[in-house]
Amino acid sequence: MGLIVQKFGGTSVKDAERIFNVARIVTETYSKGNNVVVVVSAQGDTTDDLIEKAAEINPNPSKREMDVLLSTGEQISISLLAMAIEKLGFPVISLTGWQAGFVTNSNHGNARIRKIDKERLNLELDKRNIVIVAGFQGLNRYDDITTLGRGGSDTSAVALAAALHADLCQIYTDVDGVYTADPRVVKDAVKLDEISFDEMLELASLGAQVLHNRSVEMAKKYNVNLEVLSSLEDKPGTKVKEVTKMEKMLIKGVACDNDVARIAAIGLPDEPGIAFRLFSMLAKSKVNVDIILQSIGRDNKKDISFTVPLSQKETAIKCLEDVKDLLKIQDINADDNVCKVSIVGAGMQSNPGVAAKMFEALFEADINIRMISTSEIKISVLIDKEKGKRAMVAIHNAFDF
Ligand code: ADP
Ligand code: ASP
Ligand code: MG
Repeated sequence: MGLIVQKFGGTSVKDAERIFNVARIVTETYSKGNNVVVVVSAQGDTTDDLIEKAAEINPNPSKREMDVLLSTGEQISISLLAMAIEKLGFPVISLTGWQAGFVTNSNHGNARIRKIDKERLNLELDKRNIVIVAGFQGLNRYDDITTLGRGGSDTSAVALAAALHADLCQIYTDVDGVYTADPRVVKDAVKLDEISFDEMLELASLGAQVLHNRSVEMAKKYNVNLEVLSSLEDKPGTKVKEVTKMEKMLIKGVACDNDVARIAAIGLPDEPGIAFRLFSMLAKSKVNVDIILQSIGRDNKKDISFTVPLSQKETAIKCLEDVKDLLKIQDINADDNVCKVSIVGAGMQSNPGVAAKMFEALFEADINIRMISTSEIKISVLIDKEKGKRAMVAIHNAFDF
């Protein structure tokens, strides 16, 4: 007998039929003698609908109240799934994130899990109950409700698997595994039998929403036995693990991130200390800077541009405005009509020609590159937002998957 954590996303529980489908998967696993802990997301587009509802009332609500609101979506799912499992005649109990012991920090809207108090969970498992836990939510130390960030139910599931030393953590979703690119955008995308934690972490962080990036981070840290599979088709999915067997492909995938804005500080003095002061200011305001580009100095002037998450665009602009006179910045501009397209694979820098091939594919698709960044495991380019999907297809076609 083992302990298995199974997580089902929004589309997998979107209506009564899908909830019974999930109930069947869960009870089959239980009937094989396993203890089962299930994590569910809010049904279908519930979270987006709740965000819209809030906007009708107050375009600028406090993050605390947003968390109170958004956490309700998952509570609907846990009770409905528990009712379905009751109807199938199995012992079951639903628990909110806080009943399941999730303690987080106070970063409302993007909280991090501090610990899981396992007492209640263990009590229910000892009674041989199927335990259904609301994903994406917890309580901070002041007993205020927090949420873990969009897509955060994956992280709830992996955290439970780590805390309970589960034998397996299965992330059931609406695709049958991790592909070399979003299969809804790139028709020729190839399903991967397995992918390493590091590669998956990069793909997830660079926009492949199939797994919440922090869930991968946690799975790697606690060496959780993780797989991604379909809730609709009974077939093998993708194993995410520490080391994968050598495969012919160097490039593991292509991803596109739309959550990005480019900020430029124009006409800065070309002298030491400018970048230091600029980025110190941004760091103090907790702005996450990603790609940075500095132009060659000309007439003792230079430009620095960089990318930030969309949600931090205004903060970044304000930071630059605050130091505009001090740093003698001539002009500041921002553009959120951009996206970041990346290729991911281990050993990128030791394989010459990979970048050239990516850039050639973009050239042939007549797509202009605005910024580039490379690392051992990825190459990213910033391009116009409306060209993102076309760029993914062109780049994917250029590599031999
Ligand atoms: P869930 O509601 O189950 O959490 P998500 O919508 O968060 O599901 O994630 C699944 C979606 O991720 C898929 O429908 C797919 O469009 C998208 N996706 C993006 N990149 C990839 C990829 N490389 N492999 C598989 N799916 C991907
Ligand atoms: N319901 C939340 C969201 O839509 C969490 C999740 O689905 O993982 O982001
Ligand atoms: Mg998701």
